[in-house]
Amino acid sequence: MVLFVVQGLPLLGFCAGVWLFLREGIRAWELGLLVGMYLLTMTGIEVGFHRYFAHRTFETTRPLRALFLILGSMAGQGSALLWSAVHRTHHAHTDQPGDPHSPVLGRRGAWDKLRGFLWSQFLWYLDVPAISRFGRLLDQHRASPAALLAMKEKEQTHRFARTLPDLLRDEPLVRLNQHYGTWVLLGFALPTLVGGLVTGSWAGALRGFIWGGLVRYYLVQQITFAINSVGHTVGVRSTSTRDHSRNNGVMAVLTLGAGWHNNHHAFPGSARVDFRWWQVDLGGLLIRLLARLGLAWNLHVPSRPTPLARTPRAPDSV
Ligand SMILES: [Zn+2]
Ligand SMILES: [Zn+2]
Repeated sequence: MVLFVVQGLPLLGFCAGVWLFLREGIRAWELGLLVGMYLLTMTGIEVGFHRYFAHRTFETTRPLRALFLILGSMAGQGSALLWSAVHRTHHAHTDQPGDPHSPVLGRRGAWDKLRGFLWSQFLWYLDVPAISRFGRLLDQHRASPAALLAMKEKEQTHRFARTLPDLLRDEPLVRLNQHYGTWVLLGFALPTLVGGLVTGSWAGALRGFIWGGLVRYYLVQQITFAINSVGHTVGVRSTSTRDHSRNNGVMAVLTLGAGWHNNHHAFPGSARVDFRWWQVDLGGLLIRLLARLGLAWNLHVPSRPTPLARTPRAPDSV
């Protein structure tokens, strides 16, 4: 059921977009809305959820922090706290037992590797009831941060709460996070409204909903999740990390920098992941622009972000 709602429905929405495209093509304003909403929500995920909330690679103002939380939530990949908990767990156990979405963990033959790839791309949603249970707890007003942190060790959900001591103690953030459902709906309401205003018609509102809402949602979701699958199987390893992370230029452009995943796993606390002049890191550029404007500070950047080895091999399958 969870898999159908989180993955099946978006796929149906994406198919509706493909059907519309084959029937009538796509107008310039519809393409602009799709790209604009993609960039906004992907920025919320990569700069907000990933580099700010999950890794605390820089500091920013309260209004910008709230904006990052709302934009990331509009991507519908779970709330900022839930997303950060899952991602911090990934970093704590990368490609080892305990990693929620490793494509290589225990995978040896070709068929097994394909299953691992599909697992890390979307099937991991199926088998992680603790994640959704923890998400529900976070969404409940009665689950205070103190209660979450005080959970007994035997509670599976404690595994995730334990990764978030800093974020759970931030009460304004926890309260804003509890409106996650509203922000997801906003991600669909905004393009619907724009479509209606641009065309002055209900049909335009529907097209805005399809392109800026449904199709954008599916693309951002699958491309972000591809960091779990492609980011650990396809690409170049320029730094000797103890995991299977790879650098992949195509993924880096699509994810605003997250595709330099081997760089990121080597220096997860870094606000920028472009360690060579030709590596495009749009998320890092935005953070540095914000710093220039006085809207971001304390940017964490490794002093020597140079690759440790030329072409290190990934470790043997674990
Ligand atoms: Zn990773
Ligand atoms: Zn990370």
